[in-house]
Amino acid sequence: MNDCVFCRIARGEIDARVFYHDDDVVAFADIAPMAPTHILVVPRRHITDLNEVTSADETLAARLLLVAKQVAHAAGVAENGYRVVINCGPDGGQTVPHLHLHVLGGRVLDTCLG
Ligand code: 5GP
Ligand code: ZN
Repeated sequence: MNDCVFCRIARGEIDARVFYHDDDVVAFADIAPMAPTHILVVPRRHITDLNEVTSADETLAARLLLVAKQVAHAAGVAENGYRVVINCGPDGGQTVPHLHLHVLGGRVLDTCLG
């Protein structure tokens, strides 16, 4: 999956505004933000979607969630609140086939979940 856009961002081959990175996780600004704060949290390893996550990924899955919280704090939206979303597959509205968490904040978000 060398041409995967989020793998390429994680490798630094495509520019993005990076909020956080470690050996396993990268968080960067969404290119088409749906809210004043819109950050994507991704594993460096290519995982297509949530369906592909197994119990062997338990530590990574927890890490992704904690990084989502951390970048929400760093972006200054934690106090007012924010939303973390994972779209999975076509019906879930996933358009990039590399697992990612959306962290959305900076405005009051619609209550509708689709
Ligand atoms: P999905 O619809 O798969 O849940 O979310 C994919 C997200 O990736 C979208 O919000 C879209 O704007 C973002 N995105 C797609 N291509 C790029 C890119 O090249 N760079 C960045 N930073 N975000 C991207
Ligand atoms: Zn990938």
